[in-house]
Amino acid sequence: MDTSEHIVAVCLRMLEERLVIGTSGNVSVREGDRIHITPTGVDYRSLRPGDIPVVDPQGVQLAGKLAPTSELPLHLAVYAARPDASAIVHTHALHATAVSTLCETVPAIHYMLATSGNPVRVAEYATYGTDELARNAVRALEGASSALLRNHGTLSLAGDLESAYGKASTLEWCAQLWLTAKAAGEPNLLEDKEMTAVAEKIRGYGQPKEASQ
Ligand code: 13P
Ligand code: ZN
Repeated sequence: MDTSEHIVAVCLRMLEERLVIGTSGNVSVREGDRIHITPTGVDYRSLRPGDIPVVDPQGVQLAGKLAPTSELPLHLAVYAARPDASAIVHTHALHATAVSTLCETVPAIHYMLATSGNPVRVAEYATYGTDELARNAVRALEGASSALLRNHGTLSLAGDLESAYGKASTLEWCAQLWLTAKAAGEPNLLEDKEMTAVAEKIRGYGQPKEASQ
């Protein structure tokens, strides 16, 4: 699967797993000085790999006929600030967006949240597609790989697209878990030292590298 095919597959997964509705959300992958990014306002079900625009780090379009996402400033600002980012996933996931209206940071309800940061912050609200939103998001992402965008959605970065998608999906699951527990009572939250311990341990999670290749 090439990069554009992978982006289309992830967009369809976002839709199926209800991390977005309609044409909301966007996805990008950076390969050197080429950023493959979803087009603005296109139904994911009609998106074809050949439709995926490619831009340079300044946003100049290098390939593709369709205009890139309205959140191009957000993606470019994150790539400029984060050399560790090779993929970005932005969603409008329901529960995570609900939490973005209630909290300053995502409550430490489950250790899996540590894959995205400790804490995972909520970026100040700004109009979608603006440089102000991009700045707010970059600030909220400091030392973390996910952030919520207040009254808007989620943003996750990683060294590869599968990991960025996994973070977005885990963030939504943690948000739903907290809202579920909160509706039933006052949930216990994990202490900072517990989250720090997991952040270390989880880097080695899974099959040893040689076995999984
Ligand atoms: P685009 O269709 O322009 O990617 O916009 C969707 C979105 O989520 C804006 O924040
Ligand atoms: Zn959005």
